[in-house]
Amino acid sequence: MDYKFRWLDFKITNRCNNNCVYCGVENDPLSTPEKLPFNVIKNTLIDAMEEDFNYICFLGGEPSIRDDITDIINVVSKNPKVHLRLITNLKIFNEDTLRKFVRNLVIRKVLSSSNTTNNGEDY
Ligand code: SF4
Repeated sequence: MDYKFRWLDFKITNRCNNNCVYCGVENDPLSTPEKLPFNVIKNTLIDAMEEDFNYICFLGGEPSIRDDITDIINVVSKNPKVHLRLITNLKIFNEDTLRKFVRNLVIRKVLSSSNTTNNGEDY
């Protein structure tokens, strides 16, 4: 089997809504403006997909606190070759946020693992 594995860890924010004692990162407080604008993240993700990165992981800080996190996920979620990961503390995962995530690859990939007729790919 010819299988390429290329992983991108992408720190999309340095802001965090927690203060874990074991955290080794010097995070920015919530009041700090985002350092990376959406277009920089979008163009980086497009470049990564063109270079066949097929595992993309969003890190922080806390990546889910970005106002544009759904737009960021949408950049990659339409690509069936990309396995998407979000490292999160789940502090702000309310129902509305969860519904947005259900529509994308993050949740769909988990659900598809029980479907044996499509090799775990999209429904
Ligand atoms: S949630 Fe993560 S980034 Fe934030 S303080 Fe805790 S370990 Fe650090």
